[in-house]
Amino acid sequence: MSEQVRDRRRALLELHVHLEGSLSPLLLRTLAERYGQPGVPAACLTPDGSRYLPVAGFAQFLERYKAVVSLLRTPRDYHEAALGLGAALAGQGVIYAEVTVGYGVMHRQGVATEPVQLALHEAAAQVAQERGVRMLWQADAVRQWGADAAWKALEAALRCGPGLGVVAFGVGGDETALPAGDFAPLLAAAAREGFGTTLHAGETGGAASVRDAVLAGAQRIGHATAAGGAPEVLAMMAGAGVFAELCPGSNVATGAVGGYAAHPLRAFLAAGVPCCLNTDDPALFGLSLRGEYERAREALGLLEVEERRMQAQALSACFAPAGIRADMEARLAAGP
Ligand SMILES: [Zn+2]
Repeated sequence: MSEQVRDRRRALLELHVHLEGSLSPLLLRTLAERYGQPGVPAACLTPDGSRYLPVAGFAQFLERYKAVVSLLRTPRDYHEAALGLGAALAGQGVIYAEVTVGYGVMHRQGVATEPVQLALHEAAAQVAQERGVRMLWQADAVRQWGADAAWKALEAALRCGPGLGVVAFGVGGDETALPAGDFAPLLAAAAREGFGTTLHAGETGGAASVRDAVLAGAQRIGHATAAGGAPEVLAMMAGAGVFAELCPGSNVATGAVGGYAAHPLRAFLAAGVPCCLNTDDPALFGLSLRGEYERAREALGLLEVEERRMQAQALSACFAPAGIRADMEARLAAGP
């Protein structure tokens, strides 16, 4: 078997992907038509509607994200988004994904979270049956909207719980807006209820933002990029076994790093921080998880043995219940 064929068949795990950032251009146009909002695809997509436009920095990315999210209004919309993401994941050989859903955003837009979560759960069951991809859900609050709104998001997530596929709680948004410590009681409460916990940090903030996220009790850090230049923070993560959900292609797209070769992946590996690669917002950035590993191999010298270790570490760090975890372990071990 050629190396290329073997690579295409190797199973991958995705731990940091936002449902809202995975909306295909076709679905975005469909939703825009459904709600009479032609301005959204006009602002976000190329003139032929086939691709998202490149973003010029993080602020513009947040604006685009908001525009896309404004078109997700009903359980049907979310159901279609989840089916689309499931198909995209299957096409890349992804066998397991923890998908972030903006509970905080839904509350702010007046969308009831429980009917949406039921629709997502049903879509995930369909994707598992038809495509063999397991999708579980991480409810997300928005950092800049504060702890009170985040508590509401957590309470809604707990009402849904593992019965509807929700296994984790996280806080994303603007990490520079409020200290991670403000959310420490939330993370502790989520963990007490059996949820996994994550915080976005070190994407637009510095290494101190990652340190503060670890001190706030997050089990995993989304991005953590800035920690790559701070050996003491890497050592802290490695010592505490805090997992880094690295998103190099996303960091390149938003300008968080100057180019793919500038991503500090190798510093994380050298420091022994458990980590894997992720797409973050694959449709918005035109990324695939398979493509991320290929680029890491080309630009950062990622070795096959390191890639395999990352999948094993992702499995250890995932928030899946034991049955699904055992199934994924067997599929990873089976290899290509
Ligand atoms: Zn993210």
